[in-house]
Amino acid sequence: MPLDELIASLTVDVPDHPEPGILFRDLTPVFASGPAFRRMVAGLAAAAASDPRAAAVATSAGRDFDVVVGVEARGFLLAAAVAYDRGVGVVPVRKAGKLPRERVAADYALEYGTATLELHSDSIRAGARVLVVDDVLATGGTLGATVELVERLGGVVAAVSVVVELTALGGRERLAPHTVHALWAT
Ligand code: 5GP
Repeated sequence: MPLDELIASLTVDVPDHPEPGILFRDLTPVFASGPAFRRMVAGLAAAAASDPRAAAVATSAGRDFDVVVGVEARGFLLAAAVAYDRGVGVVPVRKAGKLPRERVAADYALEYGTATLELHSDSIRAGARVLVVDDVLATGGTLGATVELVERLGGVVAAVSVVVELTALGGRERLAPHTVHALWAT
């Protein structure tokens, strides 16, 4: 089965979560399936290889990215697996108040509410090529703030990879000029 169909078939739609009017796409059954999780992780990693921006910054060593950044909390599950698979490090972008040391912060608007994301100031070296990973792209607020934090530290966003893109919410446009690679767009 094609990967987008597999993800779609395992995703559970939850109406009115976490607020009335929000249709929440619950991906936990995709994560819970061994074959689906493996293909999902491979797909997220492969996105960087097909990104012209990533190709432009790839080194002669042939590596598409030096580090993977995952967004709290579901992005952690994905970023860690991608990083392990590729033998690179993983860096967490966390919600406000969780990181203990010097950090940079960016405010963002969610599909529901507002929040702040933070990144340790020394977690991305200047010039590092970064693969940014999360589960869902909705309005793009979360990933927009994540990209901003990476770039403020001098990192180069090689690619942005998500499992699901909710196309009606305009996240892709918001993240331009970065290209979003989605395993399933709906
Ligand atoms: P955005 O900032 O793009 O509006 O929202 C994306 C963030 O909110 C992601 O970190 C994602 O985990 C979460 N999110 C928003 N909508 C959904 C959804 O329908 N399902 C899941 N699993 N996460 C969502």
